[in-house]
Amino acid sequence: MKPAICKKHGPQRFTLTSPLLAKAISEDGLDNIFITRIRIYSNERWSEYFVDNEYLTRFLPNHSGGEAVFKDRDVAKRRLNDRLLIMKVLSGMEYACPVCLSEIPGAVS
Ligand SMILES: [Zn+2]
Repeated sequence: MKPAICKKHGPQRFTLTSPLLAKAISEDGLDNIFITRIRIYSNERWSEYFVDNEYLTRFLPNHSGGEAVFKDRDVAKRRLNDRLLIMKVLSGMEYACPVCLSEIPGAVS
């Protein structure tokens, strides 16, 4: 989350989404984009992101769409879990207005 100004909604705490979805929001071009919800469990709390399904398929070729759940590392148990995948997925994402994002069908939490 980072504070930024949306042209439609003013100051918002921007959230991360896939580059295609961020571009579609800014250009109002949301046709034929299949949305996938990513849920990440990290530091004992859940975070949620919405991306286009093709974005996730880049990292998870066999992903069937809908929802993906990742678990971050467990320090106590010394397990890496999905940490490397989470880092890759998040590092390719871009910031977008959360209100614009919530107006997309399928991207409502
Ligand atoms: Zn907005």
